[in-house]
Order: sequence, then structure tokens, then C-alpha cells
Amino acid sequence: MEQNNTDYIRLAADLQTDSIVDGPGLRAVLWTQGCSHHCPGCQNAQTWDFNGGGLVPLDMVYDAIDELEYQDGITFSGGDPMFQVEACNKIANYCKNKGLNIWVYTGFTFEEIMKLSKTKPIYLDFLSKIDVLVDGRFKIEERDLSLLFRGSRNQRLIDIPKTLKSGEITLFDEKEYNEENRFTRAPIYV
Ligand code: SF4
Repeated sequence: MEQNNTDYIRLAADLQTDSIVDGPGLRAVLWTQGCSHHCPGCQNAQTWDFNGGGLVPLDMVYDAIDELEYQDGITFSGGDPMFQVEACNKIANYCKNKGLNIWVYTGFTFEEIMKLSKTKPIYLDFLSKIDVLVDGRFKIEERDLSLLFRGSRNQRLIDIPKTLKSGEITLFDEKEYNEENRFTRAPIYV
């Protein structure tokens, strides 16, 4: 039987299980392969090539997710997960059912994704599973190492459930996060 290509995802690496810089708490990170934004100063340029990395069956990704024990959530990064929205949507669904919170890094802005969703509703489907979207291209001229979980000032930590409910961009509450995590903050790159 012919395999549906959404039964696979192109990844830059195995599922990382121990990140503390890609969102709150201890997180798994799915490093997707492929990005055409080509932001100057990107720290993951090896993930740009859409033919790079390796094609991985989703079942293998699910098996790796099943092994997670202490992680608070999973972060989709890359590369840009939006270029593999069908596969990422399936994985997000799997993670949601396991109670993992979901952060996604993308070079697209929230507004661009909403525009894309008008012709491809799966973008909204994927968005609706995300807790926080870190949006926008990395801009080296706006680079700021003091920012929480992002690399440049144009990027936003968007609280997606609140944003979709209210219809207005609502940001992740950094003040509350910083108060609760005063002693555990780590710097972030992109
Ligand atoms: S969107 Fe992210 S992965 Fe893609 S070029 Fe920009 S910083 Fe790099």
C-alpha cells in the first residue's frame, strides 16, 4: 500500500528530551528539517535544506513521545514546523492526548498563519492545539539576549488559546512566569 507522506516527518535530529530553554519546564524538542526564511544570524542553518535531515515515520516519533516521563511539554522547532503542518498537526494531536503542553517556534507571524489558514484550514487546526506560538523571523538587528524564550524583539510569545478565544493577540504572561521561576531562568537564542 502506498504510504501517505503525512505518515512521515523530516527531522533534523532525534527527539531531544532535555531542553530547559525552549519553553517552560523540562521539555522535549522536535527539531523539524526545512526552512526557507533564511534569517541572517540563524543558529540552525543546517536545518534549512528541505532534503536534509532524515525522513522519520510518525510511528517512531510516537514511540519516542511514549518514552517521555518527566517532561512538562514538547516544543516544535527547526527548521520551521509550519512547512510540515500536516505531520506536525498529527504529532501535536498525539501530544495533546498525552497531556503535554505545546510550544511552537515559527518564522511566520501569527497573522501570516491565519492568512494561510483561509485556503488551508489545517494551519488553524494545528494552531488550535498550540499553547504558545513563538512567532516571526529572527532579526539580527533586533537580537536581545535578555528576552525570554526568543532571540529578537520582533518575536512574540503568543498565548494561542486566549488569542483564538478573544480574537486579539494575547501574549504569554512573562511577568507571572518570571515571578514563579526567578531562580531557574536560562537564556535563549532564536
Ligand atoms: S525561521 Fe528560524 S530556523 Fe528558519 S531561518 Fe529563521 S531563525 Fe532559522
